[in-house]
Amino acid sequence: MVHFVGAGPGAPDLITRRGAEMLRTADVVIYAGSLVNPALLGLCRQDCSVYNSAQMTLEQVLDVMQAAHAAGKTIVRLHTGDPCLYGAIREQMDALDRLDIPYDDTPGVSSFCGAAAAVCGEYTLPGVSQTVIITRMAGRTPVPERENITALAAHGATMVIFLSAGMLDGLQAALLQGAYTAQTPAALVYKASWPEEKVVRCPLGQLAQAGRAHGISKTALVLVGDFLADEYQRSKLYDPTFSTEFREATV
Ligand code: SAH
Repeated sequence: MVHFVGAGPGAPDLITRRGAEMLRTADVVIYAGSLVNPALLGLCRQDCSVYNSAQMTLEQVLDVMQAAHAAGKTIVRLHTGDPCLYGAIREQMDALDRLDIPYDDTPGVSSFCGAAAAVCGEYTLPGVSQTVIITRMAGRTPVPERENITALAAHGATMVIFLSAGMLDGLQAALLQGAYTAQTPAALVYKASWPEEKVVRCPLGQLAQAGRAHGISKTALVLVGDFLADEYQRSKLYDPTFSTEFREATV
């Protein structure tokens, strides 16, 4: 059996209890070494075989899984954040289907949640934005043309941009061609929840410059939108003049 597990954004105590238990009992762990905090490997048994997939191809990962499964071993495939975002899990799962190897998937705290926590922010503020756009700049992995940053930025919604901290000049320019202005608040969140976490807030017009000034070019998320500003409407859910399924209006 292969257990895909979300490691969380970095802090070792942000993995789920289920994920931690799977790490504790695994015979083989294959972890995404470029981003998973190695401190999590401290949960593994002394005799657990640990592989760093940063140095492996998909075929090599599958070879390890296949051999371990044939030997009756339990395998954990540890991905950073939640495996469902930029995790390359689908190609592994489809290959496991072909090999008739069963698997399951345990969610994790994505770094986009870790970044919100780092800025103590709420992405979906009433009166500001009720939508979060999660995307990336095209790099070696292409992005479908209809999803280009400027097209998505036309909404003026909250945006969380992954895998793009090395392209801040292009990102800033593309965002500014959308609905945002140079004054729209932005934040760079480097290594959310790690001891070396850094949060840099700046107007969008200074994003690239802020990245250079703080030496941030990878392992960071870019947050953009007026959710980072101070204006919003209070929630209806907790408004005393509103009745809900669970509470009568008091005023
Ligand atoms: N599945 C992961 C994303 C993997 S893609 C998740 O759910 O978070 C790798 C990208 O995620 C990095 O380039 C960076 O943009 C972002 N990232 C991962 N961990 C991060 C962290 N702790 N802080 C900020 N960004 C992070």
